[in-house]
Amino acid sequence: MRRILVTGAGGFIGGHLVQRLAADGDWVRGADIAEPAYRPSPADEFLTLDLRDPENCRKALAGGFDEVYQLAADMGGMEFISAAECEIMRNSVLINANMAEAAAAAGVGRYFFSSSVCVYRDMAPSEAALAEDGAYPARPHNEYGWEKLYSERLLSAYARRRGLEARIGRFENCYGPYGTWRGGREKAPAAIARKIAELAGDGAIEVFGGGRTVRTFVYVADLVEAVVTLTRSAETRPANIGTDERVEIAELVRIIAGIAGKRVDITAVDGPLGVASRHFSHERIRALGWTPRYDLAAGLAETYPWIAEQVARCRSARPPIG
Ligand code: NAD
Repeated sequence: MRRILVTGAGGFIGGHLVQRLAADGDWVRGADIAEPAYRPSPADEFLTLDLRDPENCRKALAGGFDEVYQLAADMGGMEFISAAECEIMRNSVLINANMAEAAAAAGVGRYFFSSSVCVYRDMAPSEAALAEDGAYPARPHNEYGWEKLYSERLLSAYARRRGLEARIGRFENCYGPYGTWRGGREKAPAAIARKIAELAGDGAIEVFGGGRTVRTFVYVADLVEAVVTLTRSAETRPANIGTDERVEIAELVRIIAGIAGKRVDITAVDGPLGVASRHFSHERIRALGWTPRYDLAAGLAETYPWIAEQVARCRSARPPIG
């Protein structure tokens, strides 16, 4: 039986990862600054800890671990990323620096870090796929990407100098049930699903820029499988984790509307658009034997009903007017 620590276990991907790891019968400790928002954690033990504090990182790692998955971050969609630059750069760097130091001192077997394709520059929609080396020369589009790139380099230094067995996954846009779906930190798939669920019938939803930007998405069950595969592999270089299915955000609206059974038009509004396009090579992660099982339509068919249920629950919980 392995001893496994998941930090950020109260969050969206961390919650799914704990479930995936616990299903193997390994002993899993979850740690997070907050309890899970939507369902109890299946972890054997869950510690509420602010991991910006070095002492709390040592507490999280107490007892020794075969594997550590570091997913704690001050995190959100484009709206949050464009506004909370100071919080992201300060909080996530503190978490990553203090966790790396504590993990190296504790001599953990493997250490996974959740990076992002935000480490890459903006791309034109017609550009060929970028492989991992394309992160340099570095020109991330936003401060979230610079923090991730810095933390990747921090871990590489700990790997070279302190023997930390680090693994780095660069996540593409991840979606699925049990993730943030309202409040300003939600990402595009959840925000669009919520807006469509809120329509009483056919109608229109507001989308930043009318949905012309191009993205790739990965369903959360596929992503956590890739994370475990990468962590247990000998691959020490960063690996992109995502799919080859490139869509405009407007196409995402069309697919979700189809699942909801509604006719949905898009009203273009001003807002933070992020990069124009994304297109990445997945040769490195696929060489480890991983392949995604869900295409976008299948993953969204798992996601939309959960978000529609949350919307309905909130609606019925509202006090009557008057
Ligand atoms: P999330 O916000 O749902 O989970 C992050 C968790 O970190 C939260 O539960 C939060 O409470 C916790 N956290 C924040 N500050 C903390 C602190 N000081 N101490 C302890 N815990 C703290 O986000 P997610 O979507 O599950 O993302 C997980 C990881 O994957 C993050 O590193 C994120 O940057 C990365 N990532 C996610 C995506 C995506 O599409 N969701 C894409 C690229 C990278």
